[in-house]
Amino acid sequence: MTKKQDNCSFCGRTRKDTQLLIAGIDAHICNNCVEQANIILAEELSQKSKPGKTPDFKLLKPVEIKNFLDQYVIGQDEAKRSLAVAVYNHYKRINQPETRDDVEIEKSNMILVGETGTGKTLLARTIARMLHVPFAIADATVLTEAGYVGEDVESILTRLLQAADYNVKEAERGIVFIDEIDKIARKSDNPSITRDVSGEGVQQAMLKLLEGTIVNVPPQGGRKHPEQKMIQVDTKNILFIAGGAFDGVERIIAARTRTNVVGYGSDKKLLIDKDQLLQYISPADLKKFGLIPEIVGRLPIITFLHPLSPEILKRILTDPKNALVKQFIKLFEMDGIKLTINDEVLDMVVQKSIEFKLGARGLRSILESILTDDMFELPSKETIKELLITIDYAEEKFTKSGVAKLKVA
Ligand code: ADP
Repeated sequence: MTKKQDNCSFCGRTRKDTQLLIAGIDAHICNNCVEQANIILAEELSQKSKPGKTPDFKLLKPVEIKNFLDQYVIGQDEAKRSLAVAVYNHYKRINQPETRDDVEIEKSNMILVGETGTGKTLLARTIARMLHVPFAIADATVLTEAGYVGEDVESILTRLLQAADYNVKEAERGIVFIDEIDKIARKSDNPSITRDVSGEGVQQAMLKLLEGTIVNVPPQGGRKHPEQKMIQVDTKNILFIAGGAFDGVERIIAARTRTNVVGYGSDKKLLIDKDQLLQYISPADLKKFGLIPEIVGRLPIITFLHPLSPEILKRILTDPKNALVKQFIKLFEMDGIKLTINDEVLDMVVQKSIEFKLGARGLRSILESILTDDMFELPSKETIKELLITIDYAEEKFTKSGVAKLKVA
């Protein structure tokens, strides 16, 4: 007969220091230790299934990859082609049998340059969905150097581990999207003039992840759980895709290309708009913008995304496999209501989204603002079987909505 115990038998915490203490026959375990044990279990099991097992997905050819992307992402052909090739090569590299020749295929980490809301995250997410590999999004702006307030770069891998249900082997072939990489640029490409320590420090810290190394990852992230057991993750086969708007980079490209033009003896000023200039973006421009050369070197594939034209925005409403309009039709269908949205309403939604500078993200809020009243009321009106959205009706609903008040003066 044991006396009534009030401690966790594993970590010794007293009952009042735990949220829950579970009693066994002769022992107790606290909620912290259950969580830790769970992580260790996942890690150990994934290690066991590790040796020599190749990823079990069929690698599509670049053209097939692009066809897949086309179902979800409208336009952006250049970015899709580069991404398809990068991903194809990346997974070929992972799957290559050990050979004796010295040709080592390097990682195809890439960088997507384009305004916010043009589909960078969507592209990365769609690729991960196609490959059935874990996917995590990290926001570069919250990252700081170790020792500063903010998140350590290792937290990026915490998120990937979580997406992989702590299966380390799965996480090690996942995809990480690092958003807003341009925000950690240092302010000048001449380190001796303006030293922007935080940006550069984060870039330095990020380097080792990008190049492939074994990182100690806190399974629950942050620094709040100092007792947590670190999980080792090898980043060698993780594909990193970075994205950023790089506001103003077109001026750098213009300056560089104009030099060339002058070199040919022309005194004509180059008048190319931003969209056209982006196609010439090069590693040198990113360095000039403030990414350190080592980072640029570890993100060898650069591609760009176009700003979204009205035509593309309209297609985004209707064409993708899970297009917004299709989603709303389905939602109403579930209540036995046939929803029809007139074409001119779609034009209006596009036009409002441009006018309010909301981009593709605004399409949903504007459509919601038009349809919310009906989504609220119609499920209770069983006699109504059809809903037609005309331009007058849409204008009226939109004007009354909160979105209409968002307009920036
Ligand atoms: P970014 O990462 O470039 O800021 P996102 O990929 O997050 O932009 O895009 C925001 C949203 O806008 C997406 O979730 C998607 O609904 C829509 N979107 C943007 N660009 C496209 C596109 N080219 N094709 C389809 N949908 C798009």
